[in-house]
Amino acid sequence: MKVLAVPAFQDNYLWVLHNTAGQAWVVDPGDAAPVEAALAAHNLSLEGILITHHHFDHTGGALQLAEGVRPIYGPEHSPFEGITHPLEDGARIQLGEAAFEVLAVPGHTLDHIAYYNATEGLLFCGDTLFAGGCGRMFEGTAEQMHGSLQRLAALPDATEVYCAHEYTLANLRFAVAVEPGNEALLARQQAAEALRARGEATVPSTIGLERATNPFLRAEAPAVHQALIAEAGPALVAAPACDRFGALRSWKDRF
Ligand SMILES: [Zn+2]
Repeated sequence: MKVLAVPAFQDNYLWVLHNTAGQAWVVDPGDAAPVEAALAAHNLSLEGILITHHHFDHTGGALQLAEGVRPIYGPEHSPFEGITHPLEDGARIQLGEAAFEVLAVPGHTLDHIAYYNATEGLLFCGDTLFAGGCGRMFEGTAEQMHGSLQRLAALPDATEVYCAHEYTLANLRFAVAVEPGNEALLARQQAAEALRARGEATVPSTIGLERATNPFLRAEAPAVHQALIAEAGPALVAAPACDRFGALRSWKDRF
């Protein structure tokens, strides 16, 4: 599968995946017009729509693109009512020759799911894991969000991470405040700044890069642990791991 980034709104990426037969699927079409333009420009035929969670910037263009005939895959029990093919954790969907597995990743919202293709190492994770950061917890608990991120972090290092927003520079500024001595992180920040200066996307990243540099996957790294204790207090030493994650997430909210 090939993946096209379709920028929309301020900083969203709507992802169009397609095969060599010209069949295409779109992930999280918050707006229909830029997707229709990308499909036309690449001579692609839209076969279906994948939704990760109910927020309007991920669903706003879905019904227009579906035209009442194309499947709209998405989480079961979602506040978004346009889903024609509700998916539970562990479900599989077939997009042409490519099989995608559904991972329930609650936290940002309760209905949030991710789509993972193990053969090619592709992950579409919406607003759960971001390049260098993670989504805000609007509906779920720290325990849920931490569990979801740990699940994504356990995927193979080479897995390409297609998140839904270009938040990378702001995320990495926070990451450097948490872990100023992380060489891989400093190198990543330089590379990301260079990409953005040229107007290029910093997404996709990889699970390996996130594990090395994303503080929300590193709350148990000694340096992050120390920074957290300095910021949020010594009681965190004995607390469950999800509490350290939660303290890190609140620190980022205040940052
Ligand atoms: Zn969202």
